[in-house]
Amino acid sequence: MSHLMNTYGRLPVAFARGEGVWLFDEQGKRYLDALAGIAVSTLGHGHPRLTRALVEQISRVIHTSNLYRITQQEELSDELCRISGMDAVFFCNSGCEANEAAIKLARLHGHAMGIESPSIIVTEKSFHGRTLATLSATGNRKVQAGFEPLVQGFSRVPFNDLAAVEQVAQSRQDVAAVLVEPVQGEGGINVADDAYLQGLRRVCDERGWLLMVDEVQCGLGRTGRWFAHQHAGILPDVMALAKGLGSGVPIGACLAAGKAAKLFKPGNHGSTFGGNPLACVAALTTLKVMEEDGLVAAAASLGAAIREGLRRSLEGVTAVQSIRGDGLMIGIELDRPCGELITQALDAGLLINVTADRVIRLLPPLVFAEDEAQILVEALSRLIREFVAA
Ligand SMILES: *Cc1c(COP(=O)(O)O)cnc(C)c1O
Repeated sequence: MSHLMNTYGRLPVAFARGEGVWLFDEQGKRYLDALAGIAVSTLGHGHPRLTRALVEQISRVIHTSNLYRITQQEELSDELCRISGMDAVFFCNSGCEANEAAIKLARLHGHAMGIESPSIIVTEKSFHGRTLATLSATGNRKVQAGFEPLVQGFSRVPFNDLAAVEQVAQSRQDVAAVLVEPVQGEGGINVADDAYLQGLRRVCDERGWLLMVDEVQCGLGRTGRWFAHQHAGILPDVMALAKGLGSGVPIGACLAAGKAAKLFKPGNHGSTFGGNPLACVAALTTLKVMEEDGLVAAAASLGAAIREGLRRSLEGVTAVQSIRGDGLMIGIELDRPCGELITQALDAGLLINVTADRVIRLLPPLVFAEDEAQILVEALSRLIREFVAA
């Protein structure tokens, strides 16, 4: 019997090594990685520059403490604020922790507004993590069931529905913030309209609420901009990041702008591991390679090419309801549950995911090349055609 807690239904494969966008199992079989460990492995596997930077940092020092200055953390916060326009960063180790920091900022902000019991507007089909506060914020009963009592202070509205938020604004006096994913990942690759995000920005400004974006999955170049909310030309007050930030080395970040950047005082929040030198070097190197190799623009054009290729080769397949997304965050919605496609793809040497029951999800590493995109389009189209014909 396994001594692992039964938290994941795992596929019967273990990967021994990786090279670029390919992973190799223990028998040496090769797989095209179109998932990147769920939007994590930004630079793919075994990237020489990342490997070199990590080895060098490991040989100097891995961890010190936030009781001391960490120069790599200072440098990384400068870089993140430069590319985002935000003002200050708190470092942690994961996406749920980045959202926890955001939720704590919203509560401090609410109390500063004079609200005794502040609440945060969250959306249906959202995913914000598995800690108690973040699963309470999540718009999926499956994530919450069994863990009641939930954390209080969340008010739920439909996604991409500005009128619903305006209605809450009219009827409630206890709101301090809105928390939204600019592109919902787990919820099925649902892209927020630019007008929706712009409308949220306006309502938040009018009411003095914080606009908080969860870019844990859609941030850091994946959608063809550094950050997905930038498509709408807005600046949030708070932004949560994690997944792709360290190319596989765990690191999360909560960024804040303006008054939100000054809410935390010493003693309000912390993390033992958060932003240690090794994690920060992983993130700094990831950002540097992304910038020098033009990976953000590449995500935009390659993603468009993959969606276009899929549209062409799946033309006439009526089971395909929609092919959507932005950049290298792609969803293919079928008219039926399609979880079995994951194992069929695995057998065919292709790593993909299915979310929200019927949405095939692609989150390839940003180092994908055109010929690899072509292999992906051909292999996946064939699998989908076979699946829906069976
Ligand atoms: C994955 C994810 C999280 C949770 O991140 P963890 O690192 O697993 O805690 C939060 N928000 C979004 C949008 C995510 O995709």
